[in-house]
Amino acid sequence: MAHDASHSSPADRIARARIAARVAGLDALLITPGADLRYLTGYEALPLERLTCLAVPVEGEPFLVVPLLEQPAAEASPVGALDLEIVAWRETEDPYALLASRLPSGTKRIGLDNHMFAEKVLGFRSALPGVEQALAGGVLGELRMRKGAAEVAALLEAAQAIDKVHSAMEEWLRPGRTEREVGRDIADAIIASGHTRVDFVIVASGPNGASPHAEVSDRVIQPGEPVVVDIGGTMPSGYCSDSTRNYCVGRPPERYETLYEVLLHAQKEQCDAVAPGITAEQLDAVGRDLIAKAGYGDYFIHRTGHGIGLETHEEPYIVAGSPLPLEAGMAFSIEPGIYLPGEYGARIEDIAVCTEEGGERLNLTSRELRILAG
Ligand code: ZN
Ligand code: ZN
Repeated sequence: MAHDASHSSPADRIARARIAARVAGLDALLITPGADLRYLTGYEALPLERLTCLAVPVEGEPFLVVPLLEQPAAEASPVGALDLEIVAWRETEDPYALLASRLPSGTKRIGLDNHMFAEKVLGFRSALPGVEQALAGGVLGELRMRKGAAEVAALLEAAQAIDKVHSAMEEWLRPGRTEREVGRDIADAIIASGHTRVDFVIVASGPNGASPHAEVSDRVIQPGEPVVVDIGGTMPSGYCSDSTRNYCVGRPPERYETLYEVLLHAQKEQCDAVAPGITAEQLDAVGRDLIAKAGYGDYFIHRTGHGIGLETHEEPYIVAGSPLPLEAGMAFSIEPGIYLPGEYGARIEDIAVCTEEGGERLNLTSRELRILAG
């Protein structure tokens, strides 16, 4: 089901979004530039102050409102190949009123994309008085979290690119260098590996590793310190990479090695447990229980993972309290971590895809602690 071709064509995606909007009790979806727009139309528009907005009424035909000066760019994008009317507005026109006038009469409830600028949300509120505004994220998230074969292939390509960067880590990660210096080299390598954008670079040495979202600092990396390296970027396809590995320049502390074995085992068990039908919370518990049994329960302070696609963080979230059963085509990170405040931390992260048969990891570099020569 997840790998059928119907997920791959934007034309089908708009049709599916319209059905999902109807089910959600919405009369129309309004989607401004961002991952949702790119998913539905292939159009990678910049989120600027002028209004660009895809309208998908439940009754009636979808249309794309664009500033007149953006019309050539929209037509040159994959939108040109879609049967989608482009409605261009002139610099002195009110684009909100223009869009509102084209929505079917009787529109009572509209779904706005979750990342719409507040100024646009309020623009629609004024142009559509009495129309209830709701988030479209649930509707779009439901569609986007079930990936087709072409999307899984794009995620694999992204994973292979970021794997290349991890494989060459010894070129940059050395004691005596600061996290920031190492991070700069890694960012260059992320681009050289085929990404068009660096989304984040975390080089967290020693005690900084105990903070899951530490980025880089001017701290000088010391011999024998564990270093958490979590990196990701966006490929020309729009799909993202995200992978964490752990390094140590010289011998790590003995207690760290014990902790690392626990984490390695938990992450492997979680990857092995991926299969259609297991729920997000069950998958989370597979790793959490093992880590708790080893005495580190209080130090695994975040969810197991997040979905990934056109955004680094999207549905489905692998988290306690989510009864969502996994399905073939869902892609997400598995990234348990153990963080000892003031000492160090470790996190192992792979992107996994749920398949008909079970699960598949897209990141394939070794997950063992990599000891680099000092
Ligand atoms: Zn990550
Ligand atoms: Zn992640």
